[in-house]
Amino acid sequence: MGITIDGKNFAKEIEQRLINEINDFRQEAGRPPGLAVIRVGDDPASGVYVKNKGKACERVGINNFNIHLDSNISENDLKNQIIKLNNDESVDGILLQLPLPFKFDKNHFLNIISPDKDADGLHPLNLGKLIKGDFGPRSCTPAGVLALLKNNHIKIAGKKAVVIGRSILVGRPMAIILESENATVTICHSHTRKLEDETKNADILVVAAGKPDLIDAELVKKNAVVIDVGIHRIPILNEVTKETTYRLCGDVKFDDVLTKASAITPVPGGVGPMTVSMLLVNTVSLWQSHCGLPSTIRDLLP
Ligand code: NAD
Repeated sequence: MGITIDGKNFAKEIEQRLINEINDFRQEAGRPPGLAVIRVGDDPASGVYVKNKGKACERVGINNFNIHLDSNISENDLKNQIIKLNNDESVDGILLQLPLPFKFDKNHFLNIISPDKDADGLHPLNLGKLIKGDFGPRSCTPAGVLALLKNNHIKIAGKKAVVIGRSILVGRPMAIILESENATVTICHSHTRKLEDETKNADILVVAAGKPDLIDAELVKKNAVVIDVGIHRIPILNEVTKETTYRLCGDVKFDDVLTKASAITPVPGGVGPMTVSMLLVNTVSLWQSHCGLPSTIRDLLP
């Protein structure tokens, strides 16, 4: 039976460290860190994520500027809103909540965010820095996964790591980060012919396919470390009361895989809280750089 990797408590520890950093340096900086989150339209899941990010900012002492724009906003107005935040000295980090309404090209708008306010680490310059190994804001979810692995003393160097998913948000930066930590990395995606041939060889398996319960114990090597990035809200209709309740699950069948893996992240309470933490870490790190403060939290970022 494997151990459950606790993301929730580790996220709390990171928050406490950020609270201390902000308290220690706020006076010298002359202002607290600031994060602006732009939400366009009314996607309900985005509403929940934005609210959680706002609460997390409040907990650690980051000024949170929530900008909620109508889905009918013009491309030009959205662009001008981002430029305004780029020029606002009280804002250290800008996050454009995805998905954007269909008519917008997300890459176009992500590229307008100033690279030194890129709280999500998705600007091409910062992705380039990641590839080169230069310090910069990092994609929050993969950075959170690495921090979790390290905090649980999971050896990465020399291991075989398999990442399922190749999105710019999760899979690709995750693979680069693991390779930088000296793992031998394979990326699987929707065109991978025999997924099990790859996953069964993985010492570390990171699953970010966005497919509920895709991975069961059969697909996992004995004693592997399994990181479940997926998150799904599955509706369950009660036939008698006709009420709908929801079950949260990941891409991995947790109970099944727990019997075979040496360690596994739960959903909820695994990668999710770490993603929010890393957003805070990126923002505080950008604040330190903007205010000429010492860079004291580099160890938390890959
Ligand atoms: P995405 O849809 O952009 O990418 C999914 C990737 O998985 C694609 O590269 C696709 O090729 C691959 N894929 C899909 N089905 C596959 C299959 N059967 N076999 C192999 N590969 C397959 O999604 P994303 O943005 O990378 O997110 C992935 C999941 O992670 C989603 O469930 C998302 O909600 C979740 N997520 C969670 C967090 C968090 O904080 N926990 C953060 C970001 C994303």
